[in-house]
Amino acid sequence: MNQRLQSFLRGEIESLKAKGIFRMPRVLETAAGPRVRMDGREIIQLSSNNYLGLTTHPKVVEAARRALEEFGAGPGAVRTIAGTMSLHLELERRLARFKGTDAALVFQSGYTANVGVVSTLMQEGDLIVSDELNHASIIDGCRLCKAGRAIYRHLDYDHLRDILREARARGTGKILVVADGVFSMDGDVSDLKAIAALCREFDAISMVDDAHATGVMGRNGRGTVDHFAVQEGWDIQIGTMSKAFGVMGGYVCASRDLVEFYVHKARPFLFSSSHPPAVIAACIAAVEVMENEPDRVARLWENTRFFKEGLKRLGFNIGSSSTPITPVIIGSGAKAARFSDELFARGVFAQGIYFPMVAEEKSRVRTIVMATHTRADLEEALRAFEHVGRSLGVI
Ligand SMILES: *Cc1c(COP(=O)(O)O)cnc(C)c1O
Repeated sequence: MNQRLQSFLRGEIESLKAKGIFRMPRVLETAAGPRVRMDGREIIQLSSNNYLGLTTHPKVVEAARRALEEFGAGPGAVRTIAGTMSLHLELERRLARFKGTDAALVFQSGYTANVGVVSTLMQEGDLIVSDELNHASIIDGCRLCKAGRAIYRHLDYDHLRDILREARARGTGKILVVADGVFSMDGDVSDLKAIAALCREFDAISMVDDAHATGVMGRNGRGTVDHFAVQEGWDIQIGTMSKAFGVMGGYVCASRDLVEFYVHKARPFLFSSSHPPAVIAACIAAVEVMENEPDRVARLWENTRFFKEGLKRLGFNIGSSSTPITPVIIGSGAKAARFSDELFARGVFAQGIYFPMVAEEKSRVRTIVMATHTRADLEEALRAFEHVGRSLGVI
């Protein structure tokens, strides 16, 4: 190996080890469910984004199997060349209907959707105004274009207003206000009513990333735009098929003009192939399940309330989440890593989260309950949290 490369890599890896946070991903040996086998152990899974249990829903799996047999393994080309199948369009119609927009466009992932949507729309002389805790894919979208960037303090809409007023006074071109609907590390929620009002007042474009809100908030899990009833005039909704939908893929739901613009201009759409037909068919079935089985969302919230109350009663610091994402804040990265390891030894998996995903002193294990956890699963998990919390002096 190149000598310089080798010493660079050694340095990077040693510094992770010195901080106590070097961990290669654990290996899942079963389907993603509420109880799984991981690294050879049966454990209760508290780190999956499979909120509603759709990864193994019989209708979703069956749809994938049929599409595989009928349409083959791959799409054959980039969508704009010869890879757009009737299935892709069907999924986009369903998503637009589900989200209440005129049109939708599917990307390979939520990550590429954000990168494509932000970087294609925003140009020199424009301004992107972003919540400080927005997802990395939004930040990367900002980095890939020549528009200016301003960051407002987390959920601080007075600060957002100041930025917008100043930008308009300066004669900025297009202004895009973008926020996660549900924040992935803290589980708190953007106030879309406040954002919508400010966008109207200052003639800004509104964009929300509902990766963690779809399947969780709003009627039948339609997301935060539905939850806050701001459909009228809201410009852009991003989402992923990889979380509550249980499959894979990103999407933007917006006006037909915006979608047609992206079909011709968004680089992740133009220069990278889309999903195989089996994946798209599974996504279509997942949207159908979401529309037809609202009980799953209700169960998710019941489990969420039960688990949060249990953690609070034990005396853990669970931050300010109001959604199924519940952080258990531990302190240093090394301690959070140790906490996660000891939980695992007691049959529970909750991933440690450290800098740069969160501030070092707010390192945590992040828990996400699923609709398909039983009460017994959650009680057992709480017992493990109690034991580890006491033995490490966290509670
Ligand atoms: C997970 C996530 C994404 C990325 O979605 P993928 O489909 O996994 O690429 C984007 N935005 C937010 C807020 C997320 O939580």
